Amino acid sequence: MADVVLRNVRKTYPGGFEAIKGVDFAVGDGQFCVLVGPSGCGKSTLLRMVAGLETITAGEIEIGGRVVNDVEPADRDIAMVFQNYALYPHMTVYNNMAYGLRNRGMAKAEIDARVQEAARILELGPMLTRKPRQLSGGQRQRVAMGRAIVRHPKVFLFDEPLSNLDAKLRVAMRVEIRKLQRRLATTAIYVTHDQLEAMTLADVLVVMNGGQVEQIGSPLDVYAKPATTFVASFIGAPPMNLLTLADDLRNELGGTPAEAGILGVRPEDLVIGPGTAAQGGLALDITVEAIERVGPETFVYGVRAGHEARPVAAGKPGDGAGGDVIVRIPGQIAPAIGECITVAAAPHSLHLFSADGRRRIAG
Ligand code: ATP
Repeated sequence: MADVVLRNVRKTYPGGFEAIKGVDFAVGDGQFCVLVGPSGCGKSTLLRMVAGLETITAGEIEIGGRVVNDVEPADRDIAMVFQNYALYPHMTVYNNMAYGLRNRGMAKAEIDARVQEAARILELGPMLTRKPRQLSGGQRQRVAMGRAIVRHPKVFLFDEPLSNLDAKLRVAMRVEIRKLQRRLATTAIYVTHDQLEAMTLADVLVVMNGGQVEQIGSPLDVYAKPATTFVASFIGAPPMNLLTLADDLRNELGGTPAEAGILGVRPEDLVIGPGTAAQGGLALDITVEAIERVGPETFVYGVRAGHEARPVAAGKPGDGAGGDVIVRIPGQIAPAIGECITVAAAPHSLHLFSADGRRRIAG
């Protein structure tokens, strides 16, 4: 067990591309840290630097109180689980798990004890003599986890380990990984671009964008108080509505700080009805353009009266310039397409950001 500390870590790839632009964070002993961000933000690069698979251009990485910048991957006491779990196809499940330990020259009895223990934890006991092709995707992923567990590492590193699985299995394995990590109390760093996976797994959430950290915190704190509009629209689905604070909105809200340029409101904080505008809340007139019923709730997509529609792509930060508004309502009863409705949000559910979206101002 160990904590992991990154100090001003930078990575410039040969050719001059700056993939990591100075990252600082600490993962406490036994904590589950998730690095989340869009494709290309540098999360895999960062994880590979912790693993020692990628050199560090500047800064310091510490594992268990020891600076590991110049320590070989094999000597860092980490175990990594990849998206492509690459089991040896000709070996049994048992041998897949035992292989790395044999290579290290561990005694046979100790190897057997560790493999049996991992098999028990992962419920792979009955499958130890099977080959990978005789296993389901989820079972193969568990063998990949077993290979990491038998090492008794100080830190687990996961690089999108669930992306090859179907949606249902992903959810099941997500729960399994969390239970397992709690039980083993091993520090973990987990990379994903899936914000839901990040929210559900993390003790510490690190939201990355363009080689930098946008925000660090507990998932619920990040959700409740996003530091930037990037985080506001990346964490949460459907994303937070971001509206430019033009004069009409300022007048309606009354008394917004001058430095605020963008107003944010989560889809679930909007209700259909005239609301509480008089008490400093928000009320918007929208025309319903689309409805999505997902069972227990319904998403209403509308466009503000007098504004242009400009859809915010899923996972992409909105800049507040479009007129689109998403409302998330419980149940399946929804207004009709083309209907003009008023939606409202209470004052305490409003978020304010600077005009460039880089700073949270209030809310
Ligand atoms: P994804 O979710 O798509 O894997 P990521 O956040 O993990 O994305 P990285 O793989 O860390 O992103 O890559 C970060 C940036 O560094 C990308 O712009 C990528 O093109 C670049 N990059 C990665 N590896 C190299 C390399 N060997 N040489 C040059 N640039 C690289």
